[in-house]
Amino acid sequence: MRTIDHLIAGHSGGGAARQNDVFDPNTGKVQAKVQLGTQAELDKAVAAAQAAQPGWAATNPQRRARVMFKFKELVEANMEELAHLLSSEHGKVIADARGDVQRGLDVIEFACGIPHALKGEYTQGAGPGIDVYSMRQPIGIGAGITPFNFPAMIPMWMFGVAIAVGNAFILKPSERDPSVPVRLAELFLEAGAPEGILQVVQGDKEMVDAILDHPAIGAVSFVGSSDIAHYVYRRGVAAGKRVQAMGGAKNHGIVMPDADLDQVVQDLSGAAFGSAGERCMALPVVVPVGEETADRLREKLIPAIESLRVGVSTDAEAHYGPVVNAAHKERVENWIQKGVDEGAELVVDGRGFQLQGHEEGFFIGPSLFDRVTTDMESYREEIFGPVLQIVRAPDFESALRLPSEHQYGNGVAIFTRNGHAAREFAHRVNVGMVGINVPIPVPVAYHSFGGWKRSAFGDVNQHGPEGVRFWTKVKTITQRWPDGAGDLPRGSEDGAAARIQDAFVIPTMG
Ligand code: NAD
Repeated sequence: MRTIDHLIAGHSGGGAARQNDVFDPNTGKVQAKVQLGTQAELDKAVAAAQAAQPGWAATNPQRRARVMFKFKELVEANMEELAHLLSSEHGKVIADARGDVQRGLDVIEFACGIPHALKGEYTQGAGPGIDVYSMRQPIGIGAGITPFNFPAMIPMWMFGVAIAVGNAFILKPSERDPSVPVRLAELFLEAGAPEGILQVVQGDKEMVDAILDHPAIGAVSFVGSSDIAHYVYRRGVAAGKRVQAMGGAKNHGIVMPDADLDQVVQDLSGAAFGSAGERCMALPVVVPVGEETADRLREKLIPAIESLRVGVSTDAEAHYGPVVNAAHKERVENWIQKGVDEGAELVVDGRGFQLQGHEEGFFIGPSLFDRVTTDMESYREEIFGPVLQIVRAPDFESALRLPSEHQYGNGVAIFTRNGHAAREFAHRVNVGMVGINVPIPVPVAYHSFGGWKRSAFGDVNQHGPEGVRFWTKVKTITQRWPDGAGDLPRGSEDGAAARIQDAFVIPTMG
């Protein structure tokens, strides 16, 4: 059986006492084993990073950007291989898998412009003869700990920027779909990056704790579920590191009475069920404003949901594929039962779905709940599966309160033709990323990504200008050069100094 290794100092390998099963979610069978590394593997990676990073930081930013350009070309050339590998471990359909890689590449494109992003600030004449300037310098060694649901995009969010600004980067991907991160690191080497600049250590909690406690790692970026994000944040900060830790989500879509409901239904089919709902920017809660809007929406949603095609991840016609593993399938189905027990109305039940010929695959049909209320645990917690919940709101103000008062604050959307309502909503809602008639408002790579409340711990967001800030330290220099012209030696006893001085003398005209 295939073993998925670490990639340390340019070489794959490294035995481990423990391994994790990596499944093919389409068949339910184990397709590979991944190493679960320890402090020993991390120490080797840190030593290689320490050897490589000073030279990389001293390489001028344009040359670093050229490696990024080359990496982008290589990923594009290998897109189909990467998308199929990703899909085979995650279960998302191929088109979604390509999107996963492409959204990561968007950040690599941003990183190609790093010379511009690193230009500092300058104040001339801050005092008599005094100028002040600031520069951004890399942290040194950064680490990323990533979730299973975007095994290409999220690593690239992190290492694209971290490396372009001059850091070495150690990635610990999800142990559920670890192959694509290793391929990306191999392509990065092929692009001309020195060994030790991008390394992959495989593992679970043991490796995460080793990263958080390692004194040579200066910054840690985490994306995953909220309880673990909070733990990572606290432990990393206690160890003196800079930490950003993105967590879970429960994004709401507010539907005003004037919204184009056919468009909303089409948007929700993708935003709630695409990738089997395993997206932190999925839209699992829809809030129609007014009973009449709710009834009309429900009537249109039912046939749309019932017509969704669930299939193997290589089925080009499938709307979505299986969820990542059996434990997650059981968890989602338990949440559906919980919703029923709590008194929500289960309008479409996706449990018990079986795909002919793939009876052991981790498939779940789409589910729709109506009359979900805020006291229900199935509303308050993240389900992370193909389940859409309707929460009816009597008016705009009550609809605005729902996402604002929810424990998560990642994304939110409003569907309306009314510019004033949209503006009010965008300005007042207590959530980090807002869509106006855009169901999945993921900011483009040159803006920054990050939620509020329990969706993100730490102050600085992912990629874009915030990413540059996260992966660098600011140094500010206040300088004064005394007018020492008369004191400088001239003539043969110190020709070099004289030549320097001459270079500063402005020739007089005439
Ligand atoms: P997860 O929290 O289970 O795992 C994330 C990472 O943490 C993995 O690398 C894993 O190995 C590690 N980990 C797991 N258990 C740990 C423990 N006890 N101690 C230390 N580390 C541990 O998340 P997941 O299931 O892989 O991903 C799905 C979650 O990620 C969802 O909650 C989703 O909303 C969230 N997510 C958030 C964003 C965002 O930007 N806010 C983006 C994508 C996913």
